[in-house]
Amino acid sequence: MLTQWWQKNRQRLIAHYCQHCGLPIEKRDVSASYIWLLCRRCQDSLQVPRCRCCGLACQRVVDYCGQCLTLPPLWRHLYCVGDYTPPLSHYVQRLKFNHQLHQADILAQMLAQQITPDVDAITFVPLHWRRQLWRGFNQSELIAKALAKRLGLPCVTLFKRTRATKAQLGMSRKQRQQNLTNAFELIEINHYSSLAIVDDVVTTGSTVQQLCKLLLDAGAKSVDIYCICRTPEPHSER
Ligand SMILES: [Zn+2]
Ligand SMILES: [Zn+2]
Repeated sequence: MLTQWWQKNRQRLIAHYCQHCGLPIEKRDVSASYIWLLCRRCQDSLQVPRCRCCGLACQRVVDYCGQCLTLPPLWRHLYCVGDYTPPLSHYVQRLKFNHQLHQADILAQMLAQQITPDVDAITFVPLHWRRQLWRGFNQSELIAKALAKRLGLPCVTLFKRTRATKAQLGMSRKQRQQNLTNAFELIEINHYSSLAIVDDVVTTGSTVQQLCKLLLDAGAKSVDIYCICRTPEPHSER
């Protein structure tokens, strides 16, 4: 009985404060907030106009930015929550480096609100087995599973990272391609026509581009990218 009373009145009795700016979250915003974590202003600050194709920030929302028109990526749409900046980067870091696994569901909730799902299944960027053993989990897999549950889609394991690759930051486009050549393989036959690949942070886009190629070569018709953060690398050649 007490439990029922608590469930009913919890929302009214507990004040919620934004985890980023510390200001109270207004009651009318509570239901729309990310599990009552961020106030409306901080949520809105994550939203900037982006290119619907590559996901990079633009002056206004466009279907294709200049870069996508001249050098289109292999994927169809990229959906993201925001740039790799606070408060979003903190949630990703807590998941990856502080083992706060429940952050995966919070991030999936944020991402689900951005997506118009138009795929048959969800898959994810693999980690090399040594990295996964060291970390204990694959953050992209956790986000993908939580997201698939929210969107009511199957989550399938399709890729394997066959060798450890160097960090891509600062590499030219050609160096990145060489770094990732034969770094991934399909470990399952894909039966789905359209898929989404989940990654935690997309910076150069080279990794998801390689995975798209594997899926398209294996007969998939279209691939979307679902990521938490989409951010250009510093001193990018783009
Ligand atoms: Zn706030
Ligand atoms: Zn673009």
